[in-house]
Amino acid sequence: MMQLQTLYLVNGGDWGWVVGSVQFLVNNIRSKSMTGLIIFDKDQTLIDSACGEKFIQSPTDQRILPGAAEAVSNFAKRGYKIAIASNQGGVEAGKKSFESAIEEMKFCLGLFPEISIGLICPCYDGKSAWMVKLNDWEVYLRQKIGVGSGTTNFGNFRKPGPGMINFLIAYYKSVPGETWFIGDRPEDEQAAEAAGTNFMAADILRLRFQQSDNC
Ligand SMILES: [Mg+2]
Repeated sequence: MMQLQTLYLVNGGDWGWVVGSVQFLVNNIRSKSMTGLIIFDKDQTLIDSACGEKFIQSPTDQRILPGAAEAVSNFAKRGYKIAIASNQGGVEAGKKSFESAIEEMKFCLGLFPEISIGLICPCYDGKSAWMVKLNDWEVYLRQKIGVGSGTTNFGNFRKPGPGMINFLIAYYKSVPGETWFIGDRPEDEQAAEAAGTNFMAADILRLRFQQSDNC
């Protein structure tokens, strides 16, 4: 006769039981809303200009900063969802086209295989943001988010506004307390504070992973 064992914690997170050698997991006992989320700023956080300029000169003018790839891989292995949120005021400033900003985010996502979504806010008034997403077939999709004055994050997408962070928390069904924002500028930290998330300075995080490489 089969004997059910007491419900117990397996894999450090899920609950389940064992019948013989078969393990059954109950996924819904733990709230799915507690998905850990890491959101990175892009420029001077994950990448900088490959040709050494202060600002990115073209969509492909990007190189991975030391320690950034290792940090992203570490978070991915630990099960965190990972995304990017980037102000792209250069579009409104006339330094780059909107299409170029989209291509730039696509190229960046290609540098970090564990990150499948990047948000950009191309306007100063924070009234629109776009999601660039790599789907399962490696096709890039783009989608305008938070459209319309009745939506929650309208007018707040541009950092230091919390709109892009708020959107990603809802998208990934996470919560602010389980979310970290990582960036290099005061407006990144202010955006994290406005969204109620944790914040870490990008240089400190990258330094940690550079050091671990040397050990
Ligand atoms: Mg930055």
